[in-house]
Amino acid sequence: MFEQLKEKPADKILALGQAYREDPRETKIDLGVGVYKTPEGVTPIMRAVKAAEKQLWEIESTKAYTALAGDPAFTDAMVGLVLGDAVARDQVSTIATPGGTGAVRQAFELVRMVNPGARVFVSDPTWPNHLSILAHLGMEVVNYRYFDSATCAVDFAGMLTDLEGVRAGDVVLLHGCCHNPTGANLNMTEWAAVVELLNAKGALPMIDIAYQGFGDGLEEDARAVRFVAANCPEMLIAASCSKNFGIYRERTGILMAVAQDATLGKITQGNLAYLNRQNYSFPPDHGARLVSMVLTDADLRADWQAELEDVRLGMLKLREQLAGELQRLSGSDRFGFIAQHRGMFSRLGATPEQVERLREDHAIYMIGDSRINIAGLNSETVPILARAMIDAGV
Ligand code: PMP
Repeated sequence: MFEQLKEKPADKILALGQAYREDPRETKIDLGVGVYKTPEGVTPIMRAVKAAEKQLWEIESTKAYTALAGDPAFTDAMVGLVLGDAVARDQVSTIATPGGTGAVRQAFELVRMVNPGARVFVSDPTWPNHLSILAHLGMEVVNYRYFDSATCAVDFAGMLTDLEGVRAGDVVLLHGCCHNPTGANLNMTEWAAVVELLNAKGALPMIDIAYQGFGDGLEEDARAVRFVAANCPEMLIAASCSKNFGIYRERTGILMAVAQDATLGKITQGNLAYLNRQNYSFPPDHGARLVSMVLTDADLRADWQAELEDVRLGMLKLREQLAGELQRLSGSDRFGFIAQHRGMFSRLGATPEQVERLREDHAIYMIGDSRINIAGLNSETVPILARAMIDAGV
């Protein structure tokens, strides 16, 4: 059987990481994979998570299975974090999933189970794994314009025009905040226009939120998702705890489905639990338990929020420094978008050839579409990147 398998292309982002590790140049800079790093280049365990882990070691008395949908303490705490009081709790059904990726996969599976002909509208560009999961599931994908490469901002007119093409039953995938890979985001007026259009068409919004707290703040980053929940009859939300709790390898995420009422919510809940059962049965619990401990203990939560806020402000400062350096070196404002973008990523608008020059001549590694991980920089490497960008003709 195995002789029939075909080579799978390597994941581009992971392959870039490998090339970086093999580069012997001491001055090399890694702006590739999407993992937060301190200025010293380490991905730390957050203080509150470490403290929760210590407590958990003391108090955890069994490793028996949790509930099929995940520990209710986790799912409740996450509904609070993401949705606040935007909708009644009994309208929201939830499953804990292995990371945000697990939530995305389960969301698509739910859609396919209900409506095998549903098309999924995705931003151009989007996180590549959205596309590869949809292709794997055999679901039809439609791109909508999103990024204007001339201004490096959202092409909102193009986006709305393309979304005019949605039909009842289609799904429109949106990034809740900190768009990956571009860093360009909708403002609330634009969100309102999208909601109005989707409601008029009868399309289902699905929000992927993987960076809550990395953009404008924990509450601010949840505004869009709460607005959609409060104003659309139904929606899906895939949330990841990997970045904002720094627990990447624990595989912690949640899928939420907002239904029109509690009766539909109950049926949806049963279907979500069914999907967990078919795909991996019980979801991982360790990371989920750390998250619920941090969110429900006042001291741990305050410390977590303070650390997350430092992370966010550190990245904002790097954005401003980079935009400032580039303004100085180029004598123009054309890089101002870097300070406007939010989250861990920015798409710089460089050509693939310029990206290659940056790698070959300057040992600066970024994704081929010129997405950089802001957290791969520090105050000393920002001027190096800025000079290299000008040198490469960006
Ligand atoms: N969605 C987006 C847009 C992401 O960038 C990521 C992380 N790269 C995820 C979902 C899922 O992350 P994880 O599975 O590691 O929680």
